Amino acid sequence: MLSKKLKEKIENLKKETFALFPESKTELKYENNFQLLIAIILSAQTTDKQVNKATKNLFQKLKTPQDWVIMWENKIRNYVKTLWFYKNKAKYIYQTCQILSKTPFEKYTTLEQLTLLHWVWIKTAKVFLAVTQDAPLLAVDTHVHRVLNRVWIVKTKTALETNNKAEKIFTENDNAKLHHSLIFFGRYHCTARNPKCKQCPLTKICDYYNKKN
Ligand code: SF4
Repeated sequence: MLSKKLKEKIENLKKETFALFPESKTELKYENNFQLLIAIILSAQTTDKQVNKATKNLFQKLKTPQDWVIMWENKIRNYVKTLWFYKNKAKYIYQTCQILSKTPFEKYTTLEQLTLLHWVWIKTAKVFLAVTQDAPLLAVDTHVHRVLNRVWIVKTKTALETNNKAEKIFTENDNAKLHHSLIFFGRYHCTARNPKCKQCPLTKICDYYNKKN
């Protein structure tokens, strides 16, 4: 059971983040759902801009898992070497594509099925389903983790911990829209360094702000 104060914070957060970022959606560039999954895998610890740069030419050539398997792991490495953990990413993308070249990708439609694939963590799968199916899931990335802790909706040390708490706090109705607006709020407004507190409508409920002022 959530306290009245926490419920009010959540309502405020939803209202203001929706108002600030009403049209937010993924900034990853892709032509089909398979490419989107690859882009999300590549985006771990990396910005969407960097991923788009790396995949710009790559996605023109590689549109299916079979295309990637033919390319081999070493060649994939060359294309993504500007990204963090590129060796692991190339390795697991190759292994994932080997599986997907034998089983139709369309069969992977749930969190449980998607997380069976290599390097597809719960966050990756949630982002994928939120984007492709508008699924009522809140993917907790570094931005969402930071924002929820700053306004003290959760008090956690890791994104995984935040994810577990958020699953109990937010309802399905909240999640569908909140996913994108919270990520944008953390990415462009409540940034890790120099958050835009002076223009923020959440100062009253923000513990981070109130401790500093
Ligand atoms: S007041 Fe500052 S720290 Fe708090 S939510 Fe707004 S931008 Fe983030």
